[in-house]
Amino acid sequence: MNTRIQFSDLHLSREIAKAIEDMGFEEPSPIQALAIPLIQAGRDVTAQAQTGTGKTAAFGIPIIEKIDPSRRTVQAIVLCPTRELAIQIAEEFSNLLAHLPRITVLPIYGGQPIERQLRALQSGVHIVIGTPGRVMDHLRRRTLRLDDVTTVVLDEGDQMLDMGFIDDIELILKKVPQNRQTLLFSATMPQPILEISRKFQNKPEFVRVEYAELTVPQTEQSYIEVKEREKLDVLCRLIDMVDPHLTIIFCNTKRRAEDLSGKVRARGYRADELHGDMKQSQRDRVMGGFRKGVIDILIATDVAARGIDVEDVDIVINYDVPQDVEYYVHRIGRTGRAGKSGKAVTFVAPKDFTKLREIMHYAKVQITRMPVPSPSDVAQSRTRGVLERVRETIQAGGLEQFVRIIEEETEGDHSTIDIAAALLKMQMDVGIEPLAEKPGELDFGDTGAESGMVRFFLGVGRQHKVAPKDIVGAIAGETGIPGKAIGAIRILDSYSFVEIPKEHAAEVYTIMKERTIRNQPTGIEPASGKRA
Ligand code: ADP
Ligand code: MG
Repeated sequence: MNTRIQFSDLHLSREIAKAIEDMGFEEPSPIQALAIPLIQAGRDVTAQAQTGTGKTAAFGIPIIEKIDPSRRTVQAIVLCPTRELAIQIAEEFSNLLAHLPRITVLPIYGGQPIERQLRALQSGVHIVIGTPGRVMDHLRRRTLRLDDVTTVVLDEGDQMLDMGFIDDIELILKKVPQNRQTLLFSATMPQPILEISRKFQNKPEFVRVEYAELTVPQTEQSYIEVKEREKLDVLCRLIDMVDPHLTIIFCNTKRRAEDLSGKVRARGYRADELHGDMKQSQRDRVMGGFRKGVIDILIATDVAARGIDVEDVDIVINYDVPQDVEYYVHRIGRTGRAGKSGKAVTFVAPKDFTKLREIMHYAKVQITRMPVPSPSDVAQSRTRGVLERVRETIQAGGLEQFVRIIEEETEGDHSTIDIAAALLKMQMDVGIEPLAEKPGELDFGDTGAESGMVRFFLGVGRQHKVAPKDIVGAIAGETGIPGKAIGAIRILDSYSFVEIPKEHAAEVYTIMKERTIRNQPTGIEPASGKRA
């Protein structure tokens, strides 16, 4: 097949075609090219494609074309696993609806006051995007009727099953008229998904975008050979060298994601973690921060990051080699999206080489070896960055008054090139640390601890029923430093002190700040010099 399907081949309405153009889509993605004609023909479709391949528009476009705006009833419902996704899908629909203002779409999800959703539903909504739990709530209250629904979408089907939504989904599907069109989208096709398809679809057509196509070709993939204990240092160097705007780092477990997040923050990076056990409100906060660029580094587990769409992720780093080939493909799908180029770097410990070969084989990708970035690599790349900004600043103009200041203040004492060099040196001196040292260690000054230790104040004491073992347990448990490394503990009525070896102090501080001891916020702060 050498002529690719174009949007113009899909006989779309003028309004949708215009919206697609506004959105900057040049041609249908493979899954769109496969699925849209089948959905338009009224078929039930089960589609498998990796995250980031445009599945939303694949069902969104034909759904919108089928809506009759003059009937003020819900005509399509999309079920998806999380609030985050419901919002994202609703946004994509709103964009597709830019020139069809009479068609309305409403995301409904837990955590938002139900009254607001009630009012919106009462005013007449054509397309509902919802999480199964909240949709069930509305069905029970009879505030949502599905009698006129002609299309149902189960998006991220595998994840909804993983999250235990199967019963809700079955109940919801029973409320929708039998002659509906049922569309099932999923990144993977495990047996339970096929079961759902068998039970609820009518002669479904299966479409799938194969691995080779799945991998985003614009993503440059490499690996770094690194021992477990050097991973953190190498990670920081890599980030300093690439100097990405947004980074996603993947860890294999929630525990490792949390640990790494604390350590990376302790080194002064703006990072946060995202894992499956977090409350929805926490996840929203983290994702919001990442989108706005308040956080540059998102440290995630596979499950937590599924389906989340963030634009402009420059680099994906696999801190751990993923356990599963599909996970690899999903992870690197987070970068190089929608035609932009991206990077994916995988950390490979000696024991991981078999897995790496397996990934290359099954995902049909080439992952090339890259050396550990050296300090001079970092320095060079920073220089390039600074000079790049210099060029941009010169191009932007408006330098006259600065030229005057330099002429007046230096009175020709220095050559222009010396001044430029000095400014560059000042920019670069922000510190490129050698690997052996512990870069970015926070200096707590004199905290009145024994030598080699840092003494911390904790805002919990006897009145919170805190005993030494609670403090040791909490710190060792949360940070992974051995309990016996923890030094003197002194418990007073409403507060306590604990001494921590210097090399662990920054880590303990950043992690424990966000944790509790006996259900109380730790209130951890470096102690002041004089011993109480
Ligand atoms: P998926 O549901 O498969 O994970 P999405 O539907 O969230 O993927 O799409 C990922 C991103 O790609 C979105 O930002 C979307 O707007 C964009 N996109 C979708 N289709 C196209 C297309 N044909 N061309 C360019 N970008 C597209
Ligand atoms: Mg999706």
